[in-house]
Amino acid sequence: MDYEVTIVGAGPSGIFAALTLADLGIGPVLLLELGKNLDQRERKHANGMLCGWGGAGAYSDGKLTLSPEVGGFLGEFLEAESLNQLLQKSDKIWVDHGAPKLVFGESSPKLEDLADRARLADLELIPSRIRHIGTENCLTVLDRLQKSIVEKVEIRTECRVENLLSENGQITGVKLASGENIYSRFVIAAPGRSGAGWMKKEAETLGLKTRASPVDIGVRVELPAPVLKEITDTIYESKLIYYTKTFDDKVRTFCMNPYGEVVIEKSSEILTVNGHSYAGRKSENTNFAILVSSAFTEPFDDPIAYGFYIARLANLLGKGPIIQRLGDLLAGRRSTQERINRCLTRPTLPEATPGDLSFVFPFRHMQSIIEMLEALEKLAPGVYSRHTLLYGVEVKFYSNRIDLSPELETQVKNLFAIGDGAGITRGLIQASASGIVAAEAISNRLNS
Ligand SMILES: Cc1cc2nc3c(=O)[nH]c(=O)nc-3n(C[C@H](O)[C@H](O)[C@H](O)COP(=O)(O)OP(=O)(O)OC[C@H]3O[C@@H](n4cnc5c(N)ncnc54)[C@H](O)[C@@H]3O)c2cc1C
Repeated sequence: MDYEVTIVGAGPSGIFAALTLADLGIGPVLLLELGKNLDQRERKHANGMLCGWGGAGAYSDGKLTLSPEVGGFLGEFLEAESLNQLLQKSDKIWVDHGAPKLVFGESSPKLEDLADRARLADLELIPSRIRHIGTENCLTVLDRLQKSIVEKVEIRTECRVENLLSENGQITGVKLASGENIYSRFVIAAPGRSGAGWMKKEAETLGLKTRASPVDIGVRVELPAPVLKEITDTIYESKLIYYTKTFDDKVRTFCMNPYGEVVIEKSSEILTVNGHSYAGRKSENTNFAILVSSAFTEPFDDPIAYGFYIARLANLLGKGPIIQRLGDLLAGRRSTQERINRCLTRPTLPEATPGDLSFVFPFRHMQSIIEMLEALEKLAPGVYSRHTLLYGVEVKFYSNRIDLSPELETQVKNLFAIGDGAGITRGLIQASASGIVAAEAISNRLNS
């Protein structure tokens, strides 16, 4: 064996696995990352945005969602109490490396009042406690995490893992794109969402059972910050769920950014929208996503292809993301630059092309988005204004879910799969917590 443990991917899940192994005295450990090191990452390239030290976390909004109901499915593997302790452990590591001490969304009479009013509007408010690192501070925190392990863990960036190697149902190591084979007693696969295609292919080769996750498709909504001030001051990020009258589809708000900015997300094939906010810099608007979840059964079972198709349609019509005033959408006309110029909400993403989102979304999605906005209007008057801006499309793809044991081990012995790439997490806290679970399981096994 060259290494005791080899980790594929240096996103939050891989980093926390490495950190935990180092703390537990396990070694030698090798951490492999196909992207560049932090100081050489370039956000404007699709690969640089998601790959490199820190993974997708590097340019994320840095919201640490501390509630177990949000950001992943670790609750399916752990008892509630153990999960709570694990999330606290993971949170403490983030704080020790520079995440702010302030937590938003602590339970309060104001929060309860908001939840009651949401209920009257047919909305369910999922309370969630949040710590906000802010986009500009994520790099500093991730750099500190690297400094904590660089002496104890061998890190190789710009090093792509081509294949996982196994023999007789047991992992034996990895094969690098350079052709080099690395032999290792344990392997932790942590390739994130950007490595979902690779993970799916490797799972097929190894005969691992997987299942498709739904795709979430929708718009990013932007409006003047005072419209949502009461909500964002009380809980910072409100997770609101609504079941539509017409289709009974589940629609949710996602990633709320008070005083934030709408941004373009580039992948190698599509341009979509996202949002973030800085801890220091403030715009006059708040943005959030409204997402409709779509799952398929048979004969079609490829939600990722479906999401790509819709995003490509928006790109075809708008040469990139499209922006439309809600008033124009409801009046059945496209937005033009002149109409956007007259809009009372000033867009924070002026590069988006004024257009007509009704040409992009299937009726089912468009109707669901409009019904959600109507419901939100009851909770926060002003949401359903003619001047509310809609950007499309926002798509959330999730990796296939891999069948895992409670220790996050696959059916191949000593191969663990963690984080967003295993389809079990969707955010920084749960991704990093999954790294701790796998590392502790390996340590326990070695010690016994
Ligand atoms: C724009 C944006 C904003 C976000 N904002 C938030 C937020 O505010 N709060 C929150 O909780 N979450 C947020 N997220 C999600 C969060 O970033 C992810 O949930 C988290 O990074 C997942 O961690 P991970 O380690 O599983 O995967 P990743 O962070 O994706 O890391 C995986 C790493 O593995 C590497 N890799 C893949 N395949 C290979 C291979 N074959 N060989 C070697 N290396 C490989 C990749 O290059 C990548 O660096 C955001 C995501 C994005 C894109």
